[in-house]
Amino acid sequence: MGVTTGGSRGGGLRAANTMAVMPGPRSDGTTPTSAERGRARSVFNRLLERYPESRTALDYENAWQLLVVTVLSAQTTDENVNKAAPALFQRYTSTAELADARPEDVEKIVFSTGFYRQKTKSIIKLAQDLEDLYDGEVPADIDELVKLRGVGRKTASVVLAEVWDVPAIAVDTHVKRVAGRLGLTEETDPERIEEDLKALYPTDTWSALSMRFIQFGRDVCDARRPRCGSCELFKFCEWPERFEAAGKSTL
Ligand code: SF4
Repeated sequence: MGVTTGGSRGGGLRAANTMAVMPGPRSDGTTPTSAERGRARSVFNRLLERYPESRTALDYENAWQLLVVTVLSAQTTDENVNKAAPALFQRYTSTAELADARPEDVEKIVFSTGFYRQKTKSIIKLAQDLEDLYDGEVPADIDELVKLRGVGRKTASVVLAEVWDVPAIAVDTHVKRVAGRLGLTEETDPERIEEDLKALYPTDTWSALSMRFIQFGRDVCDARRPRCGSCELFKFCEWPERFEAAGKSTL
């Protein structure tokens, strides 16, 4: 999932939940020092300059559609999902309709997003769970969201931040890599990384963080070929291989 510019499409669904509160300790129980918080803040400020506004590049009109397109976005581009999803939502206009869908019909529509059989199963089960557990409404609570089959903390956090304006940090492979290289966490487990980042940043920045980390991971801090030579975060970076990578990347 990438970012694009502009305001949120959560629109009327938004609630004011973004009071700046300094959060608790890291996953190992330690509390970040003010110097560590300052460095983390500098990283975030640079990313804000690079990406002044961000939101998911996935198209959706409401919370359940965002859940569905987020599931469909696994292992493919947002563009691919945005091409396939309109036909899906035209045919199935509610979670109740999708819950009763015939898998073979859905498979044809989501085929182009790859892993179409698994994704079809996942989104039908997701719709069934939304109907059975929450009468078709998407909850604004991470513990409730992760009860839905196919919805992990990452997807739940995207929905919380995008639709409900609830502070949340979605940790995907890009966030994991970028945060690790920058020395913002030493953890490898996504939930512990989420805790470490939450300990470093005030709550009112959480939702703005992950989309920018994700995009930065795609644009600059690539897994195999990071552009360390032209990276604005070089001076904050703790990745031992950054000097060698800088020599190889375009200045
Ligand atoms: S210096 Fe290299 S490894 Fe460090 S954040 Fe920038 S691109 Fe990533």
